[in-house]
Amino acid sequence: MQYDYDLYVIGAGSGGVRASRVAAGLGARVAVAESTHLGGTCVNVGCVPKKLFVYGSHFSEDFEDAAAYGWNALPPSFDWTRLRDSKTAEIERLQGIYRTLLSNAGVDIHEGRARLADAHTLEINGVAHTAAHILVATGSRPWTPGFPGRRHAIISDDAFYLERFPQRAVVVGGGYIAVEFAGIFAGLGADTQLLYRGPLFLRGFDDGVRRFVADELAKKGVALRFNSVVQELGLDADERVLRLADGEELRADLVLYATGRRPNVAGLGLEEAGVALADNGAVLVDDAYRSNVPHILAIGDVIDRMQLTPVAIAEGMCVAHNLFGKGPPRRLAYGNIPTAVFCQPNIGTVGLTESEAQRRLGGVEVYESAFKPMKHTLTGRSERTFMKIIVEQATDRVVGLHMVGPEAGEIVQGMAVAINAGATKQQFDATIGIHPTAAEEFVTMREARKGT
Ligand code: FAD
Ligand code: NDP
Repeated sequence: MQYDYDLYVIGAGSGGVRASRVAAGLGARVAVAESTHLGGTCVNVGCVPKKLFVYGSHFSEDFEDAAAYGWNALPPSFDWTRLRDSKTAEIERLQGIYRTLLSNAGVDIHEGRARLADAHTLEINGVAHTAAHILVATGSRPWTPGFPGRRHAIISDDAFYLERFPQRAVVVGGGYIAVEFAGIFAGLGADTQLLYRGPLFLRGFDDGVRRFVADELAKKGVALRFNSVVQELGLDADERVLRLADGEELRADLVLYATGRRPNVAGLGLEEAGVALADNGAVLVDDAYRSNVPHILAIGDVIDRMQLTPVAIAEGMCVAHNLFGKGPPRRLAYGNIPTAVFCQPNIGTVGLTESEAQRRLGGVEVYESAFKPMKHTLTGRSERTFMKIIVEQATDRVVGLHMVGPEAGEIVQGMAVAINAGATKQQFDATIGIHPTAAEEFVTMREARKGT
């Protein structure tokens, strides 16, 4: 049977764009469908605008710190609409770049919502297209629990386009988005509270990191309310009124729910095409990203393995190479994927947490250090940096590395190469530091921590 395309990709986000471009580069006839904006979540309502807001929010401290270095600045004032609109202009520029990249690669761009009509046919804007292979790269969307008054809360997509900047913000959740936005709101001047249902946020991160970040956020004025559950959200004129399970009432101008994301599969026609889904909607795939209908594949957030842009991109490249490239099949190794949380200061992390290492490996040694960054010796700011290395005793291999501090993401990216290469603690010790930096601490920690 002759198909219109060798590969039809649904979703021009991080994974879909990369898979389309690489497949087209390998000679495949490729089309990609996009229902909103080219670039997907990361470019439009994720990594990129978020990081721009993080940069923007840090200036409040930078202005204060400048005084200790001799600068006499005018009292600064903040213009939300200017930051919001500069950010929007930048992401529109990026959308244009994505369009050019796809067109130059020879990929047909179909703008509209695609759905499967049958296992080899896509429908978009009333037109049917057939394809030998279909790649579902539709990402994920914010999920919030059901509770009375949910409609008065916003989700992260909305936070990028606020009409007015809030004076009082409440963020509900304790994962990546909650801590990043708590930092953004606080840095930009909002009186900010973070409500998390458990005893300590950032579940899944190293416990030392979690405690350290809690202290640092609190020092920056974010009010942390752990063991807090929202029962109801009401509206009193313009004010949001949160009623908590313990009977307390909070008032705010904005309530952001950041309670996770779910795979974006509604209305795609996957079940009708016989594709098996997990309970939360994730497309179930094998290690080559094939669903139970082998010519229908899926990557990125919609498979719910690791919801990170570089992971979606790497999965997209695997699919393109495995379908249209030469050489042995490519598989992605999911261990040791580094990640950063752009709270302030940042978290950077790669490998196992201390408790995971103890559980999986038995004997481990832990090296850790907490110190005042050199910059703040003059400013007097109380912010501290935390670093931690976890070493497997039997092999001397560094199996986990964690940092909380300025530019932790930048620093840990390099360290991740060493850890992926199997570096030992002895090799860390044999590496000469770069002085004076915070990063040199990773190669100068000599005394293992005693006790747990
Ligand atoms: P997406 O990028 O979401 O792309 C899916 C695309 O499919 C979308 O454009 C959507 O419109 C389209 N689509 C859906 N259904 C259809 C349909 N039926 N027809 C046509 N098109 C369709 N990750 C990081 O690594 N670092 C970060 O700093 C980071 N920050 C983030 C901050 C926020 C606020 C959020 C929400 C996410 C962040 N992420 C970050 C996660 C990252 O954005 C995602 O993991 C990544 O975008 C997933 O890529 P994807 O290709 O799977 O999906
Ligand atoms: P996360 O999964 O990171 O965190 C969700 C949070 O919501 C958790 O603290 C969870 O608590 C809490 N939660 C879940 N259900 C409920 C509920 N019913 N009531 C109250 N709280 C609840 O999701 P995010 O939305 O923060 O982000 C989605 C994903 O996007 C991230 O996991 C990450 O992969 C990606 N991302 C990456 C970024 C980066 O790389 N810097 C930045 C932003 C997002 P509990 O822990 O108790 O389950």
